[in-house]
Amino acid sequence: MTIYNFCAGPAMLPTAVMRKAQQEFCDYQGLGVSVMELSHRSPEYMAVAEKAEQDLRELMAIPDNYAVLFLHGGARGQFSAIPLNLLGQGKALYLESGQWSVAAATEAEKYGDIERVDLRCESRTLDLSRIPADTSEYAYVHYCPNETVDGVAMFDVPEVAAPLVADLSSCILGRDLDVSQFALLYAGAQKNIGPAGLTLVIVRRDLLGNADSRCPAILDYQLAANHDSMYNTPPTFAWYLAGEVFQWLKHQGGVAAMAEVNRRKADKLYGFIDASDFYRNAVAPSHRSEMNVTFQLHDAQLDKRFLAEAEAAGLKALKGHRMVGGMRASIYNAMPEAGVDALVQFMDHFARTYG
Ligand SMILES: *Cc1c(COP(=O)(O)O)cnc(C)c1O
Repeated sequence: MTIYNFCAGPAMLPTAVMRKAQQEFCDYQGLGVSVMELSHRSPEYMAVAEKAEQDLRELMAIPDNYAVLFLHGGARGQFSAIPLNLLGQGKALYLESGQWSVAAATEAEKYGDIERVDLRCESRTLDLSRIPADTSEYAYVHYCPNETVDGVAMFDVPEVAAPLVADLSSCILGRDLDVSQFALLYAGAQKNIGPAGLTLVIVRRDLLGNADSRCPAILDYQLAANHDSMYNTPPTFAWYLAGEVFQWLKHQGGVAAMAEVNRRKADKLYGFIDASDFYRNAVAPSHRSEMNVTFQLHDAQLDKRFLAEAEAAGLKALKGHRMVGGMRASIYNAMPEAGVDALVQFMDHFARTYG
């Protein structure tokens, strides 16, 4: 039986990447050691690291005036690093669209003057008109384009004068975006890039060098950039695997090709849910995530049975986040369209049995 893993994170990785990593696990390119046993400063590892960065730059068309950092600490680490590096004596604005953007604001408040604007409306949509017209007074504006827990997305990049910071943890490389519209982009790797333990930061170079004097060295962007992300030992194996995923993405035709498949997968699933009176999704269609599809059963008493039967059918980790309940199917780049087809088929069968 084919297993499809819908976990929000750590999420499934492309099978081809896992097979290749398995093949070279104990003996990387005839060196007789694993890539994870190599010094991060060895020429062999440096080549891995540099290729990963070059491939990511190509995939996202990252301009030269941006540094790409491969760090530790997850996206939550960046919730602290961002104010410590960018806030200075100023204040920042946090747009709240769901659980993660709220968590980012709460962490940032430890370090300085943070203002929040809640964009969420009763009707499970976002009111973008609440974003202040003039943001020039802020050191930066932070937002989260894809709210992993809520299944809510903000597809239009907010038009703000202040430097724009975005948490791309669950949507990076899922569709094209214009890096030059942003001051800083960041993502924990474990959703759409690779294994947990690696965090990507893409930051405009003119913003480096302003870290607060109390900023821990390992969170200081300038230090990381000066040392090619090797100020301390980087998460070498996760970096290597991320590089393998980037190569795989290039073979798939790059981000534009992935975006097309992602759109199709999401449309299929939302289309089925909308056509059914057994399942529902309450998010406004214009704000529905393409990566994390949340849905509820008409009768929550059936949730346990749904999850147990899904598991038995090889469809794993469909339980919604404990904060919102219901179900969630995370369908990142690595989820093949056949996985979504299998899920829809199962959901249809379940609804016919218990509806
Ligand atoms: C998962 C997630 C985080 C937290 O990531 P960690 O790497 O566990 O710190 C933050 N933001 C978003 C949007 C996420 O999906």
